[in-house]
Amino acid sequence: KFYVLPKLPYEYNDLLPHMSEEQLWIHHSKHHQAYVNGANAILQRLDKARKEGTDIDVKSTLKELSFNIGGHYLHSLFWGNLAPTGKGGGKPSGALDDAIAKEFGSFDRFKKEFSQAALSVEGSGWAALSYCMQTNRPIIMQVEKHNMNVYPAFRILMVLDVFEHAYYIDYKNERAKFVEAFWNIANWDEVNKRLEKV
Ligand code: MN
Repeated sequence: KFYVLPKLPYEYNDLLPHMSEEQLWIHHSKHHQAYVNGANAILQRLDKARKEGTDIDVKSTLKELSFNIGGHYLHSLFWGNLAPTGKGGGKPSGALDDAIAKEFGSFDRFKKEFSQAALSVEGSGWAALSYCMQTNRPIIMQVEKHNMNVYPAFRILMVLDVFEHAYYIDYKNERAKFVEAFWNIANWDEVNKRLEKV
């Protein structure tokens, strides 16, 4: 069994004007697809080497595999925690609202910390809202590339992609404008569902 590019839960033009059709199409059908292909190519390489009994460079192979699987997994979460324009944004409700208020004091404080995490990722990476099941606290995770600084086994509730490929067509080098736009299409219903599952 291999990895498969998931279909988006909306159309490529549903996030306008916050994310253009071209930006979303390239991001999903080219960049995300490349991580799926990359991970599958490595799995096939491993299958072949094991079958033929040949040696592989385990260290570099696993590093490459971690990057591609991380990319696939995070993008899959990202598409799900975006909502068509008009159907997302605003503030969360329910359990998520309670958890954020308890941990951060207010939604605005959370928004500020999460935005700062997204803005200050060195190079390419992600801001992620995750959840620690030992302390029952939501916690922000700043991921470099797709796999560095990850808290192992913490469930991820929401992610924001800040690779340049996520926003360059729409916002050029202005990551801050993209981060600000993200709050208009955050899908709080989906993030709430993910929280209820932990
Ligand atoms: Mn991306």
